[in-house]
Amino acid sequence: MRKNIVAGNWKMNKTFDEADELVTNLIEQLEEKDLGENTDVIICPPFPYLEMCTDYSNESYFAVGAQNVSDRDQGAFTGEVSADMLASMEVEYCIVGHSERRAYYGETDALIAKKVDQLLKNDIRPIVCCGEVLEEREAGKQFEVVKRQITDGLFHLDAEAFGKIIIAYEPVWAIGTGKTATPEQAQEIHAFIRGLIAEKYGKEVADNTSILYGGSCKPSNAKELFANPDVDGGLIGGASLKAEDFINIALAF
Ligand code: PEP
Repeated sequence: MRKNIVAGNWKMNKTFDEADELVTNLIEQLEEKDLGENTDVIICPPFPYLEMCTDYSNESYFAVGAQNVSDRDQGAFTGEVSADMLASMEVEYCIVGHSERRAYYGETDALIAKKVDQLLKNDIRPIVCCGEVLEEREAGKQFEVVKRQITDGLFHLDAEAFGKIIIAYEPVWAIGTGKTATPEQAQEIHAFIRGLIAEKYGKEVADNTSILYGGSCKPSNAKELFANPDVDGGLIGGASLKAEDFINIALAF
């Protein structure tokens, strides 16, 4: 059965020393608090801190993910980081298709599909983000938008490959704004996403896929969001920068 997952997206935050302190605090929290066996914790620091985090992760209870990956194998692509490099540093997960990458760096569903392929080829599990912007929600287009993102970004995969995917539904209007989707809004679209997966790959694959919610999730609202049957955890931005808040979110199942 699918796992509950809480993944922290640190985005472009923290100096090296601050990142080190955050990981140390996280380890302290994880040693004090019992998350239970069905909850996985993933941290997604900026690229330069991955190795420090994977070194720590050997001794503790979290896995490490990157925030982005190149769609190419290797070679003359200045500034890019390949999936092969990530795999060689024991990175197990990678966020793909975050709305900030779509909005500021022009990432399309076609590019996201290529990044997903690179990750799977290197045994890294993609955390694939989808979600509508405010105007799309106001026009009632959220289902159409999410369906397109999932179909064009992921449905070229066969069922076995799809089994490695984690989905994060992140309404763009809720990211970093303090506005959270209501538990009903989250459940409605998570159930819709699971239905799309079931239609394409069958009920077993759909039931085994973790679908995370992201968008101003914090200790005070995590419980009501995670109580929904199709919400399997969260992709956490701002609140992942404080160890206690992040772990209190992970305790909300
Ligand atoms: C995110 O960007 O993935 C996110 C969920 O951010 P925040 O929690 O800060 O809204």
